[in-house]
Amino acid sequence: MMPACLSLFLLCTTAHAQATRPAAASSPSRPRLIVLIVVDQLRGDFPDRYAAHFGEGGFRRLMREGAHFVSAHFSHAATATGPGHACVACGCNPREHGVAANRDGDGECSEDPKHPLVGLDDPRRGASGGGPHRLQAPALGDVMKLATAGQARVVSLGLKRRGAIMLGGLRPDTAIWWHTSSGRFVTSTAYATQLSEYAAAMNAARAADRWFGRAWERLLPPEAYRACVPDDDPAEADAHHWGRAFPHPLTGGLKSPGEGYYAALLASPFANELLLELARAAVEYEKLGQDDVCDLLCIALSSNDVCGHLFGPDSHEVMDITLRTDRQLAELFSFLDARLGAGRYIAAVTGDHGVAPIAAHSRAHGLDAGCFSEDDAARALNVSLQQSLDVTGPRAPLVKLVELPWLFLEHETIRRAELSPQRVVDACVDELMKMKGVAWVVPAARLAGPLPADADERFHLAREAYHPRTAGDIYIGLRHYWQESENTAGHGTAHAYDRHVPILLYGPGVRAGRYATEADPIDIAVTLARLIGIQPAPTMVRARNSMATAVE
Ligand SMILES: [Zn+2]
Repeated sequence: MMPACLSLFLLCTTAHAQATRPAAASSPSRPRLIVLIVVDQLRGDFPDRYAAHFGEGGFRRLMREGAHFVSAHFSHAATATGPGHACVACGCNPREHGVAANRDGDGECSEDPKHPLVGLDDPRRGASGGGPHRLQAPALGDVMKLATAGQARVVSLGLKRRGAIMLGGLRPDTAIWWHTSSGRFVTSTAYATQLSEYAAAMNAARAADRWFGRAWERLLPPEAYRACVPDDDPAEADAHHWGRAFPHPLTGGLKSPGEGYYAALLASPFANELLLELARAAVEYEKLGQDDVCDLLCIALSSNDVCGHLFGPDSHEVMDITLRTDRQLAELFSFLDARLGAGRYIAAVTGDHGVAPIAAHSRAHGLDAGCFSEDDAARALNVSLQQSLDVTGPRAPLVKLVELPWLFLEHETIRRAELSPQRVVDACVDELMKMKGVAWVVPAARLAGPLPADADERFHLAREAYHPRTAGDIYIGLRHYWQESENTAGHGTAHAYDRHVPILLYGPGVRAGRYATEADPIDIAVTLARLIGIQPAPTMVRARNSMATAVE
Protein backbone atom coordinates (compact mmCIF):
# COMPACT_ATOMS: atom_id res chain seq x y z
CA MET A 1 0.00 0.00 0.00
CA MET A 2 1.16 3.53 -0.63
CA PRO A 3 1.43 5.78 2.41
CA ALA A 4 -1.63 7.88 3.21
CA CYS A 5 0.17 11.13 2.46
CA LEU A 6 1.01 9.93 -1.04
CA SER A 7 -2.52 8.67 -1.75
CA LEU A 8 -3.84 12.06 -0.72
CA PHE A 9 -1.24 13.75 -2.86
CA LEU A 10 -2.26 11.68 -5.86
CA LEU A 11 -5.93 12.43 -5.30
CA CYS A 12 -5.13 16.13 -5.30
CA THR A 13 -2.79 16.14 -8.26
CA THR A 14 -4.09 13.63 -10.79
CA ALA A 15 -6.92 16.02 -11.60
CA HIS A 16 -4.31 18.52 -12.76
CA ALA A 17 -2.34 16.10 -14.92
CA GLN A 18 -2.43 17.18 -18.52
CA ALA A 19 -4.74 15.17 -20.75
CA THR A 20 -2.74 15.03 -23.97
CA ARG A 21 -5.05 12.89 -26.09
CA PRO A 22 -8.78 12.46 -26.57
CA ALA A 23 -10.54 9.64 -24.75
CA ALA A 24 -11.03 6.84 -27.26
CA ALA A 25 -13.94 4.45 -27.37
CA SER A 26 -13.16 1.33 -25.40
CA SER A 27 -12.50 -1.86 -27.35
CA PRO A 28 -12.61 -4.94 -25.18
CA SER A 29 -9.57 -7.01 -26.10
CA ARG A 30 -6.88 -4.51 -26.96
CA PRO A 31 -4.21 -4.22 -24.31
CA ARG A 32 -3.88 -0.73 -22.86
CA LEU A 33 -0.61 -1.16 -21.07
CA ILE A 34 2.53 -3.25 -21.37
CA VAL A 35 4.38 -3.78 -18.11
CA LEU A 36 7.92 -4.87 -18.92
CA ILE A 37 9.68 -6.07 -15.78
CA VAL A 38 13.35 -7.00 -15.69
CA VAL A 39 14.45 -8.69 -12.48
CA ASP A 40 18.21 -8.22 -12.25
CA GLN A 41 20.05 -11.58 -12.00
CA LEU A 42 16.85 -13.66 -12.17
CA ARG A 43 18.34 -16.88 -13.55
CA GLY A 44 16.25 -19.10 -15.79
CA ASP A 45 15.92 -21.94 -13.29
CA PHE A 46 14.60 -19.80 -10.41
CA PRO A 47 10.84 -19.89 -11.21
CA ASP A 48 10.79 -23.71 -11.30
CA ARG A 49 13.22 -24.03 -8.42
CA TYR A 50 11.09 -21.97 -6.03
CA ALA A 51 7.67 -22.74 -7.56
CA ALA A 52 6.48 -24.78 -4.56
CA HIS A 53 6.79 -21.70 -2.36
CA PHE A 54 5.17 -19.15 -4.64
CA GLY A 55 1.81 -17.61 -3.81
CA GLU A 56 -1.05 -17.57 -6.32
CA GLY A 57 -0.90 -14.11 -7.86
CA GLY A 58 2.74 -13.56 -8.86
CA PHE A 59 5.06 -15.90 -10.76
CA ARG A 60 2.55 -18.77 -10.48
CA ARG A 61 -0.14 -16.72 -12.22
CA LEU A 62 2.26 -15.95 -15.07
CA MET A 63 3.43 -19.58 -15.26
CA ARG A 64 -0.14 -20.98 -15.34
CA GLU A 65 -2.04 -18.36 -17.29
CA GLY A 66 0.79 -17.05 -19.45
CA ALA A 67 3.64 -18.37 -21.57
CA HIS A 68 6.69 -19.57 -19.65
CA PHE A 69 9.87 -20.07 -21.67
CA VAL A 70 12.09 -22.27 -19.52
CA SER A 71 15.08 -22.40 -21.87
CA ALA A 72 15.73 -18.79 -22.81
CA HIS A 73 19.35 -17.75 -23.26
CA PHE A 74 20.85 -14.45 -24.32
CA SER A 75 22.82 -14.83 -27.55
CA HIS A 76 25.72 -12.59 -26.55
CA ALA A 77 28.53 -12.84 -24.01
CA ALA A 78 28.33 -9.41 -22.30
CA THR A 79 26.09 -10.74 -19.53
CA ALA A 80 25.84 -7.62 -17.37
CA THR A 81 23.09 -5.22 -16.33
CA GLY A 82 23.53 -2.42 -18.89
CA PRO A 83 23.87 -4.66 -21.96
CA GLY A 84 21.12 -7.02 -20.71
CA HIS A 85 18.49 -4.33 -20.10
CA ALA A 86 19.31 -2.76 -23.48
CA CYS A 87 18.90 -6.18 -25.18
CA VAL A 88 15.43 -6.67 -23.70
CA ALA A 89 14.27 -3.13 -24.51
CA CYS A 90 15.80 -2.81 -27.98
CA GLY A 91 15.32 -6.39 -29.13
CA CYS A 92 18.87 -6.78 -30.38
CA ASN A 93 22.34 -7.61 -29.11
CA PRO A 94 25.11 -5.20 -28.04
CA ARG A 95 26.56 -5.42 -31.56
CA GLU A 96 23.57 -3.33 -32.64
CA HIS A 97 22.30 -1.53 -29.53
CA GLY A 98 25.75 -0.25 -28.66
CA VAL A 99 26.04 -1.08 -24.94
CA ALA A 100 28.77 -3.71 -24.70
CA ALA A 101 29.63 -3.36 -21.00
CA ASN A 102 28.49 -1.82 -17.71
CA ARG A 103 31.70 0.20 -17.73
CA ASP A 104 33.78 0.98 -20.78
CA GLY A 105 36.81 3.14 -21.46
CA ASP A 106 34.69 6.30 -21.10
CA GLY A 107 32.87 5.40 -17.89
CA GLU A 108 29.66 3.75 -16.74
CA CYS A 109 27.23 2.98 -19.56
CA SER A 110 24.37 5.22 -18.39
CA GLU A 111 26.53 8.05 -17.10
CA ASP A 112 26.19 11.38 -18.90
CA PRO A 113 27.91 14.41 -17.34
CA LYS A 114 26.06 16.64 -19.82
CA HIS A 115 22.75 15.76 -18.15
CA PRO A 116 22.96 16.34 -14.39
CA LEU A 117 20.63 14.69 -11.93
CA VAL A 118 17.30 16.26 -11.03
CA GLY A 119 15.64 15.62 -7.68
CA LEU A 120 18.54 15.69 -5.21
CA ASP A 121 18.23 17.82 -2.09
CA ASP A 122 21.89 18.78 -2.46
CA PRO A 123 22.93 18.92 -6.14
CA ARG A 124 26.61 18.56 -5.19
CA ARG A 125 25.95 14.95 -4.19
CA GLY A 126 25.28 13.79 -7.71
CA ALA A 127 28.20 14.87 -9.81
CA SER A 128 27.57 12.51 -12.70
CA GLY A 129 24.27 12.69 -14.51
CA GLY A 130 22.62 10.10 -16.70
CA GLY A 131 21.21 9.54 -20.16
CA PRO A 132 20.81 7.02 -22.97
CA HIS A 133 23.52 8.46 -25.23
CA ARG A 134 25.27 5.11 -25.70
CA LEU A 135 22.10 3.48 -27.07
CA GLN A 136 22.33 3.10 -30.84
CA ALA A 137 19.00 1.36 -31.50
CA PRO A 138 15.37 2.27 -30.79
CA ALA A 139 13.66 0.49 -27.91
CA LEU A 140 10.11 -0.82 -27.63
CA GLY A 141 8.95 2.49 -26.15
CA ASP A 142 10.43 4.38 -29.09
CA VAL A 143 8.57 2.31 -31.70
CA MET A 144 5.36 2.56 -29.64
CA LYS A 145 5.68 6.35 -29.83
CA LEU A 146 6.54 6.19 -33.54
CA ALA A 147 3.41 4.12 -34.19
CA THR A 148 1.07 6.46 -32.28
CA ALA A 149 2.32 9.93 -33.22
CA GLY A 150 3.84 10.13 -29.76
CA GLN A 151 0.59 9.38 -27.93
CA ALA A 152 1.80 6.20 -26.23
CA ARG A 153 3.21 7.12 -22.83
CA VAL A 154 6.51 5.50 -21.94
CA VAL A 155 7.67 5.43 -18.33
CA SER A 156 10.79 3.64 -17.13
CA LEU A 157 11.59 3.12 -13.46
CA GLY A 158 14.53 1.35 -11.88
CA LEU A 159 16.61 1.08 -8.77
CA LYS A 160 19.84 1.14 -10.79
CA ARG A 161 20.31 4.08 -13.13
CA ARG A 162 21.46 1.85 -16.00
CA GLY A 163 18.40 -0.38 -15.58
CA ALA A 164 15.90 2.47 -15.86
CA ILE A 165 17.80 4.26 -18.63
CA MET A 166 18.37 1.25 -20.89
CA LEU A 167 14.77 0.00 -20.55
CA GLY A 168 13.36 3.44 -21.32
CA GLY A 169 15.10 3.69 -24.69
CA LEU A 170 15.90 6.90 -26.56
CA ARG A 171 12.97 9.18 -25.67
CA PRO A 172 10.73 7.96 -22.86
CA ASP A 173 8.35 10.46 -21.27
CA THR A 174 9.77 9.65 -17.87
CA ALA A 175 12.80 7.81 -16.53
CA ILE A 176 13.34 7.70 -12.78
CA TRP A 177 15.88 5.75 -10.77
CA TRP A 178 17.08 5.50 -7.20
CA HIS A 179 20.12 7.48 -6.10
CA THR A 180 21.54 5.13 -3.50
CA SER A 181 23.83 7.52 -1.66
CA SER A 182 20.96 9.93 -0.87
CA GLY A 183 18.07 7.45 -0.77
CA ARG A 184 16.06 9.59 -3.19
CA PHE A 185 14.41 9.01 -6.54
CA VAL A 186 15.96 11.13 -9.28
CA THR A 187 15.88 11.74 -13.01
CA SER A 188 18.23 13.79 -15.19
CA THR A 189 17.96 16.72 -17.57
CA ALA A 190 18.06 14.18 -20.41
CA TYR A 191 14.41 13.53 -19.47
CA ALA A 192 13.02 16.43 -17.45
CA THR A 193 13.94 19.65 -15.73
CA GLN A 194 11.74 18.75 -12.75
CA LEU A 195 11.24 15.43 -11.03
CA SER A 196 7.73 13.98 -11.50
CA GLU A 197 5.52 15.05 -8.60
CA TYR A 198 4.75 11.53 -7.40
CA ALA A 199 8.48 10.76 -7.08
CA ALA A 200 9.11 14.12 -5.41
CA ALA A 201 6.30 13.33 -2.96
CA MET A 202 7.94 10.03 -2.02
CA ASN A 203 11.27 11.84 -1.53
CA ALA A 204 9.59 14.47 0.65
CA ALA A 205 7.92 11.74 2.72
CA ARG A 206 11.36 10.04 3.09
CA ALA A 207 9.73 6.87 1.84
CA ALA A 208 13.04 4.98 1.78
CA ASP A 209 13.62 5.55 5.50
CA ARG A 210 10.72 3.50 6.75
CA TRP A 211 12.72 0.27 7.00
CA PHE A 212 15.50 1.84 9.07
CA GLY A 213 16.16 -0.18 12.21
CA ARG A 214 13.94 -3.03 11.07
CA ALA A 215 15.36 -6.41 10.14
CA TRP A 216 15.08 -8.53 7.03
CA GLU A 217 13.74 -11.88 8.24
CA ARG A 218 12.87 -14.97 6.26
CA LEU A 219 9.40 -14.89 4.73
CA LEU A 220 8.85 -18.61 5.48
CA PRO A 221 9.94 -20.89 8.36
CA PRO A 222 13.64 -21.93 8.12
CA GLU A 223 12.70 -25.52 7.11
CA ALA A 224 11.43 -24.20 3.79
CA TYR A 225 15.01 -23.19 2.91
CA ARG A 226 16.49 -26.68 3.41
CA ALA A 227 17.68 -27.02 -0.20
CA CYS A 228 19.86 -23.91 0.16
CA VAL A 229 23.46 -23.87 1.40
CA PRO A 230 23.68 -23.26 5.19
CA ASP A 231 22.63 -19.72 6.06
CA ASP A 232 25.90 -18.80 7.80
CA ASP A 233 28.11 -20.21 5.06
CA PRO A 234 31.65 -18.73 5.27
CA ALA A 235 31.81 -18.26 1.48
CA GLU A 236 29.08 -15.60 1.64
CA ALA A 237 30.04 -11.93 1.91
CA ASP A 238 29.57 -10.15 5.24
CA ALA A 239 28.54 -6.64 4.23
CA HIS A 240 26.38 -3.72 5.38
CA HIS A 241 26.88 -4.50 9.10
CA TRP A 242 24.19 -7.15 8.79
CA GLY A 243 26.12 -10.43 8.94
CA ARG A 244 25.93 -13.54 6.80
CA ALA A 245 22.85 -15.09 8.44
CA PHE A 246 19.26 -14.02 9.06
CA PRO A 247 17.99 -11.77 10.53
CA HIS A 248 19.74 -8.92 8.71
CA PRO A 249 19.35 -5.61 10.58
CA LEU A 250 18.75 -2.66 8.28
CA THR A 251 20.85 0.17 9.65
CA GLY A 252 24.06 -0.05 7.64
CA GLY A 253 25.78 0.43 11.02
CA LEU A 254 24.34 3.95 11.31
CA LYS A 255 22.30 5.70 14.00
CA SER A 256 20.01 7.37 11.47
CA PRO A 257 19.30 6.83 7.74
CA GLY A 258 22.32 7.57 5.56
CA GLU A 259 24.35 6.16 2.69
CA GLY A 260 25.30 2.91 4.48
CA TYR A 261 21.65 2.21 5.30
CA TYR A 262 20.54 2.93 1.74
CA ALA A 263 23.20 0.54 0.43
CA ALA A 264 21.85 -2.17 2.76
CA LEU A 265 18.29 -1.39 1.67
CA LEU A 266 19.31 -1.77 -1.98
CA ALA A 267 20.61 -5.30 -1.23
CA SER A 268 17.37 -6.22 0.55
CA PRO A 269 13.93 -7.04 -0.89
CA PHE A 270 12.51 -3.76 0.43
CA ALA A 271 14.06 -1.48 -2.20
CA ASN A 272 12.08 -3.45 -4.80
CA GLU A 273 8.99 -2.76 -2.69
CA LEU A 274 9.83 0.95 -2.70
CA LEU A 275 10.21 0.93 -6.49
CA LEU A 276 6.91 -0.89 -7.01
CA GLU A 277 5.22 1.72 -4.85
CA LEU A 278 6.63 4.31 -7.26
CA ALA A 279 5.35 2.19 -10.18
CA ARG A 280 1.80 2.17 -8.81
CA ALA A 281 1.95 5.93 -8.32
CA ALA A 282 3.22 6.28 -11.91
CA VAL A 283 0.23 4.32 -13.25
CA GLU A 284 -2.12 6.67 -11.40
CA TYR A 285 -0.38 9.95 -11.99
CA GLU A 286 0.80 9.40 -15.57
CA LYS A 287 -2.63 7.91 -16.41
CA LEU A 288 -1.06 4.79 -17.87
CA GLY A 289 -3.43 2.38 -19.59
CA GLN A 290 -6.40 4.74 -19.43
CA ASP A 291 -7.35 4.65 -23.12
CA ASP A 292 -6.90 2.54 -26.25
CA VAL A 293 -3.44 3.88 -27.05
CA CYS A 294 -1.25 1.26 -25.41
CA ASP A 295 1.30 2.66 -22.95
CA LEU A 296 4.52 1.14 -21.65
CA LEU A 297 5.70 0.87 -18.06
CA CYS A 298 9.23 -0.52 -17.65
CA ILE A 299 10.40 -1.62 -14.22
CA ALA A 300 13.99 -2.62 -13.37
CA LEU A 301 14.00 -4.54 -10.08
CA SER A 302 17.69 -4.35 -9.22
CA SER A 303 17.87 -5.58 -5.62
CA ASN A 304 17.90 -9.24 -6.62
CA ASP A 305 21.31 -8.69 -8.26
CA VAL A 306 22.84 -6.77 -5.38
CA CYS A 307 21.65 -9.46 -2.96
CA GLY A 308 22.69 -12.25 -5.33
CA HIS A 309 26.28 -11.02 -5.56
CA LEU A 310 26.64 -11.00 -1.76
CA PHE A 311 25.05 -14.34 -0.96
CA GLY A 312 25.10 -16.39 -4.17
CA PRO A 313 22.28 -18.08 -6.08
CA ASP A 314 22.04 -21.02 -3.66
CA SER A 315 21.58 -18.97 -0.49
CA HIS A 316 18.64 -18.50 1.86
CA GLU A 317 18.76 -14.82 0.94
CA VAL A 318 18.36 -15.29 -2.82
CA MET A 319 15.53 -17.76 -2.29
CA ASP A 320 13.90 -15.30 0.08
CA ILE A 321 14.25 -12.25 -2.16
CA THR A 322 12.82 -14.30 -5.05
CA LEU A 323 9.81 -15.33 -2.92
CA ARG A 324 9.32 -11.73 -1.88
CA THR A 325 9.58 -10.60 -5.51
CA ASP A 326 6.79 -13.11 -6.18
CA ARG A 327 4.56 -11.51 -3.51
CA GLN A 328 5.44 -8.01 -4.71
CA LEU A 329 4.54 -8.90 -8.31
CA ALA A 330 1.23 -10.34 -7.10
CA GLU A 331 0.48 -7.03 -5.41
CA LEU A 332 1.33 -5.13 -8.60
CA PHE A 333 -0.85 -7.39 -10.74
CA SER A 334 -3.84 -7.13 -8.40
CA PHE A 335 -3.42 -3.34 -8.48
CA LEU A 336 -3.44 -3.45 -12.31
CA ASP A 337 -6.47 -5.79 -12.29
CA ALA A 338 -8.34 -3.24 -10.19
CA ARG A 339 -7.11 -0.19 -12.06
CA LEU A 340 -7.21 -1.40 -15.70
CA GLY A 341 -9.03 -4.72 -15.51
CA ALA A 342 -7.55 -8.21 -15.86
CA GLY A 343 -6.99 -8.89 -19.54
CA ARG A 344 -6.35 -5.23 -20.33
CA TYR A 345 -2.61 -5.33 -19.83
CA ILE A 346 0.33 -7.44 -20.95
CA ALA A 347 3.00 -8.36 -18.44
CA ALA A 348 6.44 -9.53 -19.53
CA VAL A 349 8.92 -10.65 -16.88
CA THR A 350 12.51 -11.67 -17.54
CA GLY A 351 16.08 -11.24 -16.29
CA ASP A 352 18.98 -9.22 -17.67
CA HIS A 353 21.50 -12.03 -17.08
CA GLY A 354 21.96 -15.07 -14.85
CA VAL A 355 24.72 -15.86 -12.36
CA ALA A 356 27.35 -18.47 -11.49
CA PRO A 357 27.46 -20.29 -8.16
CA ILE A 358 29.97 -19.01 -5.59
CA ALA A 359 33.29 -20.63 -6.56
CA ALA A 360 33.82 -22.31 -3.17
CA HIS A 361 30.45 -24.04 -3.51
CA SER A 362 31.33 -25.31 -6.97
CA ARG A 363 34.68 -26.60 -5.70
CA ALA A 364 32.99 -28.30 -2.74
CA HIS A 365 31.20 -30.49 -5.27
CA GLY A 366 34.32 -31.36 -7.22
CA LEU A 367 34.09 -28.76 -9.97
CA ASP A 368 37.09 -26.85 -11.25
CA ALA A 369 36.17 -23.33 -10.14
CA GLY A 370 37.99 -20.23 -9.00
CA CYS A 371 38.44 -16.52 -9.12
CA PHE A 372 39.72 -14.37 -11.96
CA SER A 373 39.93 -10.95 -10.32
CA GLU A 374 39.49 -8.14 -12.85
CA ASP A 375 41.55 -5.67 -10.81
CA ASP A 376 44.33 -8.16 -10.04
CA ALA A 377 44.52 -9.12 -13.71
CA ALA A 378 44.82 -5.47 -14.80
CA ARG A 379 47.54 -4.84 -12.20
CA ALA A 380 49.52 -7.97 -13.11
CA LEU A 381 49.28 -7.17 -16.82
CA ASN A 382 50.48 -3.62 -16.27
CA VAL A 383 53.54 -4.84 -14.38
CA SER A 384 54.48 -7.52 -16.90
CA LEU A 385 53.71 -5.43 -20.00
CA GLN A 386 55.66 -2.44 -18.76
CA GLN A 387 58.67 -4.73 -18.42
CA SER A 388 58.27 -6.70 -21.62
CA LEU A 389 57.43 -3.64 -23.73
CA ASP A 390 59.91 -1.40 -21.92
CA VAL A 391 57.44 1.27 -20.79
CA THR A 392 58.50 2.82 -17.50
CA GLY A 393 56.76 4.85 -14.82
CA PRO A 394 53.88 3.97 -12.48
CA ARG A 395 51.64 6.47 -14.24
CA ALA A 396 51.94 4.70 -17.55
CA PRO A 397 49.51 1.82 -17.30
CA LEU A 398 48.85 0.10 -20.59
CA VAL A 399 45.71 -1.63 -19.35
CA LYS A 400 42.99 0.82 -18.34
CA LEU A 401 40.30 -1.53 -17.17
CA VAL A 402 39.25 -5.16 -17.11
CA GLU A 403 35.46 -5.42 -17.07
CA LEU A 404 34.44 -8.93 -18.03
CA PRO A 405 34.34 -10.01 -20.75
CA TRP A 406 36.45 -7.07 -21.95
CA LEU A 407 39.91 -5.64 -21.45
CA PHE A 408 40.31 -1.94 -22.29
CA LEU A 409 43.75 -0.61 -23.20
CA GLU A 410 45.05 2.84 -22.28
CA HIS A 411 45.45 4.19 -25.80
CA GLU A 412 46.98 7.47 -24.68
CA THR A 413 49.90 5.66 -23.02
CA ILE A 414 50.38 3.47 -26.08
CA ARG A 415 50.46 6.54 -28.31
CA ARG A 416 52.88 8.46 -26.11
CA ALA A 417 55.20 5.46 -25.82
CA GLU A 418 55.04 5.12 -29.61
CA LEU A 419 54.15 1.46 -29.30
CA SER A 420 52.38 -0.48 -31.99
CA PRO A 421 48.84 -1.15 -30.69
CA GLN A 422 48.96 -4.57 -32.34
CA ARG A 423 52.12 -5.43 -30.40
CA VAL A 424 50.45 -4.44 -27.12
CA VAL A 425 47.37 -6.51 -27.93
CA ASP A 426 49.52 -9.53 -28.83
CA ALA A 427 51.54 -9.21 -25.62
CA CYS A 428 48.32 -8.91 -23.58
CA VAL A 429 46.81 -11.97 -25.22
CA ASP A 430 49.96 -13.99 -24.45
CA GLU A 431 49.95 -12.92 -20.79
CA LEU A 432 46.20 -13.47 -20.37
CA MET A 433 46.43 -17.00 -21.72
CA LYS A 434 48.89 -17.81 -18.92
CA MET A 435 46.45 -16.65 -16.23
CA LYS A 436 44.46 -19.09 -14.13
CA GLY A 437 40.85 -19.47 -15.15
CA VAL A 438 41.29 -18.07 -18.66
CA ALA A 439 40.06 -20.39 -21.41
CA TRP A 440 40.04 -18.26 -24.53
CA VAL A 441 41.21 -14.79 -25.52
CA VAL A 442 40.42 -12.95 -28.76
CA PRO A 443 41.56 -9.54 -29.99
CA ALA A 444 38.39 -7.48 -30.47
CA ALA A 445 39.52 -6.56 -33.99
CA ARG A 446 38.68 -10.12 -35.01
CA LEU A 447 35.15 -9.71 -33.63
CA ALA A 448 34.70 -6.47 -35.57
CA GLY A 449 35.18 -8.14 -38.92
CA PRO A 450 33.00 -10.48 -40.95
CA LEU A 451 31.97 -13.80 -39.48
CA PRO A 452 34.66 -16.41 -40.22
CA ALA A 453 33.49 -19.59 -41.90
CA ASP A 454 34.74 -21.70 -39.00
CA ALA A 455 33.15 -19.57 -36.22
CA ASP A 456 32.00 -21.72 -33.31
CA GLU A 457 29.35 -20.86 -30.70
CA ARG A 458 31.75 -19.02 -28.40
CA PHE A 459 32.92 -16.84 -31.29
CA HIS A 460 29.29 -16.03 -32.16
CA LEU A 461 28.53 -15.06 -28.55
CA ALA A 462 31.62 -12.85 -28.30
CA ARG A 463 30.96 -11.26 -31.69
CA GLU A 464 27.35 -10.40 -30.77
CA ALA A 465 28.65 -8.71 -27.60
CA TYR A 466 31.01 -6.50 -29.56
CA HIS A 467 30.39 -2.87 -30.47
CA PRO A 468 33.14 -0.59 -31.84
CA ARG A 469 32.32 2.29 -29.47
CA THR A 470 31.92 0.47 -26.19
CA ALA A 471 33.59 -2.95 -26.36
CA GLY A 472 37.15 -3.42 -25.15
CA ASP A 473 40.28 -4.17 -27.13
CA ILE A 474 40.43 -7.80 -26.07
CA TYR A 475 37.71 -10.33 -25.27
CA ILE A 476 38.42 -12.65 -22.30
CA GLY A 477 36.60 -15.97 -22.03
CA LEU A 478 36.83 -17.66 -18.63
CA ARG A 479 36.69 -21.39 -17.92
CA HIS A 480 33.39 -22.82 -16.70
CA TYR A 481 32.54 -21.84 -13.10
CA TRP A 482 35.41 -19.34 -12.91
CA GLN A 483 34.31 -15.85 -12.04
CA GLU A 484 35.35 -12.40 -10.93
CA SER A 485 35.46 -12.87 -7.17
CA GLU A 486 36.14 -15.60 -4.63
CA ASN A 487 33.50 -14.87 -2.01
CA THR A 488 30.75 -13.28 -4.03
CA ALA A 489 28.75 -14.65 -6.94
CA GLY A 490 29.44 -13.20 -10.37
CA HIS A 491 28.31 -13.07 -13.97
CA GLY A 492 29.71 -11.57 -17.17
CA THR A 493 30.75 -14.66 -19.13
CA ALA A 494 29.31 -16.48 -22.14
CA HIS A 495 28.48 -19.56 -20.08
CA ALA A 496 24.91 -20.83 -19.99
CA TYR A 497 24.32 -19.99 -16.30
CA ASP A 498 25.10 -16.33 -17.08
CA ARG A 499 22.91 -16.23 -20.22
CA HIS A 500 19.93 -18.22 -18.90
CA VAL A 501 16.89 -16.19 -17.84
CA PRO A 502 13.18 -16.99 -17.65
CA ILE A 503 10.72 -15.34 -20.02
CA LEU A 504 7.16 -15.01 -18.77
CA LEU A 505 4.50 -13.40 -20.96
CA TYR A 506 0.95 -12.85 -19.82
CA GLY A 507 -2.06 -11.05 -21.24
CA PRO A 508 -4.37 -10.78 -24.25
CA GLY A 509 -3.02 -12.56 -27.32
CA VAL A 510 -0.54 -14.70 -25.38
CA ARG A 511 -0.97 -18.46 -25.82
CA ALA A 512 -0.53 -19.91 -22.34
CA GLY A 513 1.82 -22.81 -21.88
CA ARG A 514 5.18 -24.07 -20.79
CA TYR A 515 7.60 -23.72 -23.68
CA ALA A 516 10.75 -25.84 -23.66
CA THR A 517 11.92 -24.59 -27.05
CA GLU A 518 15.04 -22.46 -27.07
CA ALA A 519 14.17 -18.74 -26.87
CA ASP A 520 16.17 -15.53 -26.92
CA PRO A 521 15.23 -12.61 -24.66
CA ILE A 522 15.99 -10.20 -27.51
CA ASP A 523 12.77 -11.52 -29.09
CA ILE A 524 10.66 -10.08 -26.25
CA ALA A 525 10.51 -6.63 -27.88
CA VAL A 526 9.38 -7.88 -31.30
CA THR A 527 6.85 -10.22 -29.66
CA LEU A 528 5.36 -7.38 -27.61
CA ALA A 529 5.23 -5.15 -30.70
CA ARG A 530 3.29 -7.88 -32.54
CA LEU A 531 0.94 -8.41 -29.58
CA ILE A 532 -0.14 -4.77 -29.74
CA GLY A 533 -0.11 -4.67 -33.54
CA ILE A 534 2.61 -2.13 -34.22
CA GLN A 535 5.58 -2.16 -36.58
CA PRO A 536 8.75 -3.28 -34.77
CA ALA A 537 12.10 -1.60 -35.42
CA PRO A 538 14.28 -3.15 -38.15
CA THR A 539 16.87 -3.99 -35.49
CA MET A 540 14.23 -6.04 -33.64
CA VAL A 541 13.23 -8.06 -36.67
CA ARG A 542 16.72 -9.43 -37.19
CA ALA A 543 16.21 -11.49 -34.06
CA ARG A 544 15.04 -15.09 -34.32
CA ASN A 545 11.35 -14.61 -33.49
CA SER A 546 11.76 -17.49 -31.06
CA MET A 547 8.55 -16.70 -29.18
CA ALA A 548 6.24 -16.71 -32.21
CA THR A 549 4.48 -19.87 -31.01
CA ALA A 550 3.28 -18.04 -27.89
CA VAL A 551 1.40 -15.41 -29.90
CA GLU A 552 -2.20 -16.23 -30.90
ZN1 LIG B 1 25.35 -8.05 -11.12
